[in-house]
Amino acid sequence: MKTYHDIATDGGSDVAGQVRAQEARLHSRLADVGHIVAVMSGKGGVGKSAVTVLLATALARSGIRTGIVDADINGASIVEMTGVGRKPDRTSKGVIPAVSAEGVQIMSIDLFLDRGTPVEWNAVTQKSAFTWRAMVEVAAIREMLADTLWGPLDILFVDLPPGTDRLPNLLDLVPELSVAIVVTIPSRASRYVVEKSILLARPHLGDAPIGIVENMSEFVCNSCGEVHEMFPGSEGVDFEQDAHLTILGRIPFDPELSKRIDSGKNYLGSGTSKSSGGVGVFSAEAAIQSIAENLNRLLASRTIPAPTMEEVR
Ligand code: ADP
Repeated sequence: MKTYHDIATDGGSDVAGQVRAQEARLHSRLADVGHIVAVMSGKGGVGKSAVTVLLATALARSGIRTGIVDADINGASIVEMTGVGRKPDRTSKGVIPAVSAEGVQIMSIDLFLDRGTPVEWNAVTQKSAFTWRAMVEVAAIREMLADTLWGPLDILFVDLPPGTDRLPNLLDLVPELSVAIVVTIPSRASRYVVEKSILLARPHLGDAPIGIVENMSEFVCNSCGEVHEMFPGSEGVDFEQDAHLTILGRIPFDPELSKRIDSGKNYLGSGTSKSSGGVGVFSAEAAIQSIAENLNRLLASRTIPAPTMEEVR
């Protein structure tokens, strides 16, 4: 039987020590990761996971080593979208991430579950379910970051769950975030929520910039071939309240993109991207390519050069 002394301490299980050990593991594991990029959105369904997969794939195709942590625990879709196999191998040093056909390393809770199985959050009481869920969610993300054998990576994307309040939890875990990408669609409702997420995230970001990706901006009409707005009358992205905001680009709606990515097939380089004969290049593939290049430039501007030997002395 435990005494009050055991309860007042932690019963000998040294929870604080375990968390410290996992944090040390996390820092050494992420030491070989060049940049951590969080991908967030205000609302669900705006294409956050699709954009994460497409950007990581575009960069991997040009030789940049990329990985994705699917932190959207119950909305996990990265495994489906990349078509990777489940049940990853474990070694005594950690779990081996899945690797997509284009070379993107992937870690997701979905890899350990049978297809379609949800994660259940068993709280002690229903009243405590919300707090419990947030704690377990953070613990799961910490484990996925710390216990995966990432090896050297140039960019690790963290696909966050939709919602305005998820970034601060991640920032407690990672040593430093290079860029936060916010995915939005040009509807008034999405923009309203996304502006709130930016206001909430800003104080936690230090000087890390926020890159905006406007998804599903336009589409090419099948009958007339003209480019139409997806959300007529919306004002598009025009976030002026923050000097650290950079518009990375806009991606048109392309049914082929959805068809391929939702069935785990690669879209980039598949020859299915739709383009119009209108002004400029209008294809989701070209847009993704250009956003990947803009992100790379933004990251390069964030790289602090290693100190010279003179400076060290
Ligand atoms: P979120 O992660 O924000 O919840 P998803 O990435 O799961 O959203 O995307 C929602 C749906 O929209 C998916 O079926 C996806 O394939 C589709 N989608 C995303 N972006 C585009 C696009 N530019 N064109 C066509 N379909 C898209």
